[in-house]
Amino acid sequence: MTTVNLSLEDAHALSVTCLRTNGCDDPNARAVADRMIEAERDRCPSHGLFRLPWYAKGVASGRANGHAKPTVEKLAPAVIRVNGDNGFAPLGQQIAHQPLVDCTRETGIAALAFTNMFHIAAMWPEVEALANDGLCAFAFTASYPYVAPAGGTKPLYGTNPLGFAWPRKDGPPLVFDQASSAMARGEIQIAARDGHSVPETAGIGPNGEATTDPNVVLEGAQLGFGGYKGASLALMVELLAGPLIGDMLSFESLEDDGGTGGPPKGGELIIALDPARFGNPDGFLAHGEKLFEAILAQEGTRLPGARRFTSRKQTPSSGIDIPESLHQEIQALM
Ligand code: NDP
Repeated sequence: MTTVNLSLEDAHALSVTCLRTNGCDDPNARAVADRMIEAERDRCPSHGLFRLPWYAKGVASGRANGHAKPTVEKLAPAVIRVNGDNGFAPLGQQIAHQPLVDCTRETGIAALAFTNMFHIAAMWPEVEALANDGLCAFAFTASYPYVAPAGGTKPLYGTNPLGFAWPRKDGPPLVFDQASSAMARGEIQIAARDGHSVPETAGIGPNGEATTDPNVVLEGAQLGFGGYKGASLALMVELLAGPLIGDMLSFESLEDDGGTGGPPKGGELIIALDPARFGNPDGFLAHGEKLFEAILAQEGTRLPGARRFTSRKQTPSSGIDIPESLHQEIQALM
């Protein structure tokens, strides 16, 4: 595959220009670009520039509000809600960070509900930022229906990710962020594009038949990781990021899209805990490190998040490589 090398700064500037050309104002364009380039910096390309044409089309079509002004309100002493004003998620996520930190420090535990927003991408940026402020955090979001319920054959749940972060004294937090499906949607699409097979656990055909053909899975349904266990996590995420906070289920989000093929609209729930308020304020960090040391004492292990943190040190000098076809697609949108 022919690629184009871009510095992180150039990739950011390209993203801002493309988003502004297609209808975002400067604060919205910069917030979306910040989030995409963070993903590229950490070598998580499925939430990097790969998403830019999707965002550009979403705002150019008028479906997403490129001039969104998200608002923050307190619904209860420890419950905050952000209304995204029908815009992309990153600006609201930036605005909500400090109110959530302040509320969590005051109450020990607090929840943040994001509603009325498009494409809540990866979970790690927000939980990691909260852990950098000394908090422990969980994040959940739904998307479009791709995953069948346990025993079923029709897509119903999103690939619904969940993220978790734990603060560390020296160095970046412990963070994991994973889909509840056996494979990410993008990985199956890439396997289909490149003519590769997928594991039988990834999904089923339209009639529930076993298959390793990614094209058949895309016509049928994906499966939760670990069978019914992943499906139950996907179910939980649907409830937390939808009905609990007054936003859409994955299948409602697809109906709402009405076939335009734009980014999913939906909600996100974040729960933050202040470990200093849970009875072990002076010991929790060291006690957590004991576990991490025991993990790393075993050959073949690494901590979740370690790959991203290594990439983060490399990409400021190496830049990032994106497919030339993607670069051309972006240029054509400007
Ligand atoms: P992966 O399976 O690539 O990784 C999941 C987690 O496991 C990461 O935290 C990763 O850390 C960690 N990990 C991977 N290998 C190891 C290992 N050997 N030892 C310890 N930890 C390990 O992620 P997914 O494909 O499930 O999801 C990718 C991204 O897509 C996520 O950011 C997710 O939020 C996002 N997503 C978003 C959706 C949406 O609707 N908005 C839907 C589904 C997914 P590391 O990063 O360091 O490799």
